Amino acid sequence: MSRSVLVTGGNRGLGLAMARALAGAGDKVAITYRSGEPPQELVELGCLPVKCDITEPEQVEQAFKEVEDAHGRVEVLVANAGINRDTLLLRMSEEDFSAVLETNLMGTFRVVKRASKGMLRARTGRIVLISSVVGLAGSAGQANYAASKAALVGFGRSLSRELGSRGITCNVVAPGFIDTDMTRELTDEQRKVIMEKIPAARYGEPEEVAATVRFLASEEAAYITGAVIPVDGGLGMGH
Ligand code: NDP
Repeated sequence: MSRSVLVTGGNRGLGLAMARALAGAGDKVAITYRSGEPPQELVELGCLPVKCDITEPEQVEQAFKEVEDAHGRVEVLVANAGINRDTLLLRMSEEDFSAVLETNLMGTFRVVKRASKGMLRARTGRIVLISSVVGLAGSAGQANYAASKAALVGFGRSLSRELGSRGITCNVVAPGFIDTDMTRELTDEQRKVIMEKIPAARYGEPEEVAATVRFLASEEAAYITGAVIPVDGGLGMGH
């Protein structure tokens, strides 16, 4: 069955891999992109790109209207868009902290709230939130980012309690270090230190996160909700 899927931040990195995987499974996929042009590859796959900055409530509303007009109400939401502004606490400005919370937590709240309206009416739906291993384990120099990603766990688990009886699942995926623009910013020294802690002894591929998201979005995953699924090569074991 072809469902209406929305992936935020689907123009690159993990979101692009998720859009590919879900479109490949036969779903009608829409992605949000904030800057630049949407990838031609997705247009060729039949995906619908909608421009949207998730920190702007009017843009979120407009994006949902465009998706609903083209594909019907959103049945699967993947709240993936996120940013980091890494620095040590004493150097971290109010702006560094609030910008990360505003995108990663508030932006996720906005899209989830909007998607849940249609899901509640239909009494079915799939919500997947993209957190991070550092939300559970913490990370020096990432207090803002880790706080925002930890918050998604409490947010998602509350939603699974609130929406579970209506056939809606809400799960959290916690990727480890995946090879995307976000992790390419790390220095060689940082990469070396991180690599030593990963039992799988390698970075993950975006497709490995996408496969987990595709499963959580599937019919087969109907009895999984409120879960936090690590895709981290063992990095976060014990959390
Ligand atoms: P990228 O930096 O490669 O991509 C981030 C995506 O989010 C882009 O599409 C970007 O759009 C979008 N985005 C950022 N801010 C906004 C906004 N205000 N409104 C709309 N879209 C926005 O990151 P990744 O693909 O690596 O990460 C995707 C998600 O996975 C993030 O939530 C990240 O925190 C999480 N994650 C990543 C890990 C990794 O190792 N890569 C590990 C754990 C979690 P634009 O192109 O316009 O900037």
